[in-house]
Amino acid sequence: MEIKTIINEKPKPKPDQNELGFGIYFTDHMFEMDYDEGEGWHDARIIPYGPLSLEPSALVFHYGQETFEGLKAYKNLEGHTVLFRPKENFIRMNNSNQRICMPTLDVDFVISALKQLVATDESWIPTADGTSLYVRPFMIATEPSIGVKVSKSYKFVIILSPVGAYYKDGLKPTKILVEENYIRAANGGTGEAKYGGNYAGSLLPYQKAVAKGFSQVMFLDGANKKFVEEVGTSNAFFIVDGVLYTSPLSGTILPGVTRDSVIKIARDEGWEVVEKALAIDDIILYAKQGKLDEVFASGTAAVVSPIGQLAYRDEVIDIGDTIGPKTQLLYDKLTGIQLGKIEDKFNWVERL
Ligand SMILES: *Cc1c(COP(=O)(O)O)cnc(C)c1O
Repeated sequence: MEIKTIINEKPKPKPDQNELGFGIYFTDHMFEMDYDEGEGWHDARIIPYGPLSLEPSALVFHYGQETFEGLKAYKNLEGHTVLFRPKENFIRMNNSNQRICMPTLDVDFVISALKQLVATDESWIPTADGTSLYVRPFMIATEPSIGVKVSKSYKFVIILSPVGAYYKDGLKPTKILVEENYIRAANGGTGEAKYGGNYAGSLLPYQKAVAKGFSQVMFLDGANKKFVEEVGTSNAFFIVDGVLYTSPLSGTILPGVTRDSVIKIARDEGWEVVEKALAIDDIILYAKQGKLDEVFASGTAAVVSPIGQLAYRDEVIDIGDTIGPKTQLLYDKLTGIQLGKIEDKFNWVERL
């Protein structure tokens, strides 16, 4: 499919690279294409960033058929623009789409469209330490109808946002509330899809935890509220007696690209990695026995984020107020590969 390009004649001034925050600024262009039943995807275009025009009856506004992705483009040390494992994101998006009855994408085509979009807005990629260009692909149901049903038409869009260093004050461990009332995902539900409704449901527990002074929520499994699943929008890792644990991809866990990268780097380092759901009661026990070495969360935005304290019911587990050595090593290796500081032996980095 041809990609038509309309250049933005009124480019915006660029924001200060030291004040980017996360997801506040958007570049001058976006990618858009439409889908209609019987016709498939059509009208691929790179156009000036701006509002979408949709009917108020578009299905997405009523029953929530929406999926999204998140990945980053960087300027590496040699000045090349690179993407980190983009294929994984679009394969995952196709899995998310299938779960909520939306059409799939041609992975190679959307990667080439993304590369073309990033090249168009290349001057927006920030270069200050820790900054990057966050890529947000998403898909919505556009058929005008308020019957509960599968939409016959869709829009796929990619927008770009220059984002700041996630860690303004270095890698400072965070305080996390282990949530005992609300759940994020249930067996047979939509937890493994990057689907908008999952995130709407997590806002209330998040807001309550923040009001109590925590920076995120750790969710337990829906069936027993016993096993640790995820931390907000990140995957959770525990190092117990030198062994790295994370929940298996059992259907309620979002299969993070960073999670997979962390597991592969850890195994390459010769560490023992076990994909097994740990019970929160066991984690408390390990902490009391002095065996809980490190805890961290992984995700595209934060890379790896050390956790310094876990609060569960009336128990408070202090893990440490500085980043642990293994968490630091994983952070250095991952960002090192992304920025071209160390060899990309896994072939994860893709140039434009
Ligand atoms: C996106 C996301 C992650 C992290 O995935 P990455 O591919 O590493 O960015 C983890 N958990 C949830 C719930 C997510 O939405």
